[in-house]
Amino acid sequence: MPFSRRDFVKTSVLGAVAAGVGTPSKGEDAKPNPVPQEHDVQAGSHKRPIIICANNGYAYLEDAYAFLKNGGDTLDAALKVVKGPEDDPNDDTVGLGGIPNEEGVVELDACCMHGPTRRAGSVGGVRNIKNVSLVSKAVMEHTGHVMLVGEGAERFAVAVGFPRENLLTEHSRKIWLLWKEFHSTDDWWGPGLGDPHWQPPEIRDKPQSELWRERIKNLQARAADLGIEPELQLAAVRKVLFPPTGTIHCSALNDKGEISGCTTTSGLAFKLPGRLGDSPIIGAGCYTDQDVGSAGATGSGEENIKVAGAHTIVENMRHGMPPPEAGMEALKRIVRNYNGDMAKLPFLDMTYYILRKDGAYAGVSLWEGYSKGRPHKIAVHDGNLRAEVTVSLLKGYSQEFPRFPDIPEDLKKGSEYLK
Ligand code: ASP
Repeated sequence: MPFSRRDFVKTSVLGAVAAGVGTPSKGEDAKPNPVPQEHDVQAGSHKRPIIICANNGYAYLEDAYAFLKNGGDTLDAALKVVKGPEDDPNDDTVGLGGIPNEEGVVELDACCMHGPTRRAGSVGGVRNIKNVSLVSKAVMEHTGHVMLVGEGAERFAVAVGFPRENLLTEHSRKIWLLWKEFHSTDDWWGPGLGDPHWQPPEIRDKPQSELWRERIKNLQARAADLGIEPELQLAAVRKVLFPPTGTIHCSALNDKGEISGCTTTSGLAFKLPGRLGDSPIIGAGCYTDQDVGSAGATGSGEENIKVAGAHTIVENMRHGMPPPEAGMEALKRIVRNYNGDMAKLPFLDMTYYILRKDGAYAGVSLWEGYSKGRPHKIAVHDGNLRAEVTVSLLKGYSQEFPRFPDIPEDLKKGSEYLK
């Protein structure tokens, strides 16, 4: 029987748990997970105007802040920020260059809320249109609806003037192809019996650490065959083994106290076609109430939908909770949904970006980051542009699923594997 991806996931996870092999790369991660513990929470400054966003929007904050300060609309300011990563082919989590779904097709989700006019727009599962955040605004402005999905959303976008374009960059296509070839030996993708890289199923009998090494080396060889640049090969392997998430949320508040927010994403890498995450869901990926404030999310979309995260946070603030506590309370609901099960919680993560109407803000996350040295961050511009580490509910780092092993030093050489 061939060694399928399902077997691979099962053996590596169970193997790692039972035998303590295939353990994580950092010494401290190998210790048992800590008991859930709250970190100190702190509120940000209370200045207006102010824009907050996920850290991949940092480079676009300066322009957007100038626009807002000169009287620009709050939603347009937020959209200026998120359009940056949408246009950037090298950000493979948003817009052009996003990692595609399991069929190799890029499908984008976005939503926005305009506080001053109390309106909202949203699009989900959109193909061939890069700036879906702007399409969500067009839904808000040019239709009597709030949400359009799939083919209808694409046709609407074209009707209002957005160009159709190929969103799959060569780099993302190669990562997808690598994933496709790797993820199953039950189909005809990937090298066949005649290929020198083909391996018989008895590799299962080898110890986990050896299996990891072989898997990584084989994947690296395939990545090279596919023409992925040497310094990006290990990063591609990592994306195949641990499909990345990534998104951008942005909220903007002007000096009059008007507030808006938007969120845009290519969603979970290699998702099922038609899968919508939290990003296009008004109340989950983004929620803005002109009377209270605005919040948005990046992270495990399915978890955030279940707690209606952004709406929960805004309602918490409405009832008097300061931004950090409002966010922590939503994170606790995610923990509650798993009864605090520390065997499961490390495999999900969530970051909330929170802005209250008076300019108080917070960035909170379930875990401190992906690993030491890669903390979750919120980017802020209130006249002073900066990135701040978020405050986490739990101490420690989210784990990839299954846990990533030590990468042998010789394989790491010359490769930016965390890219
Ligand atoms: N929340 C996004 C989604 O689930 C992914 C992410 O934020 O990383 O589609």
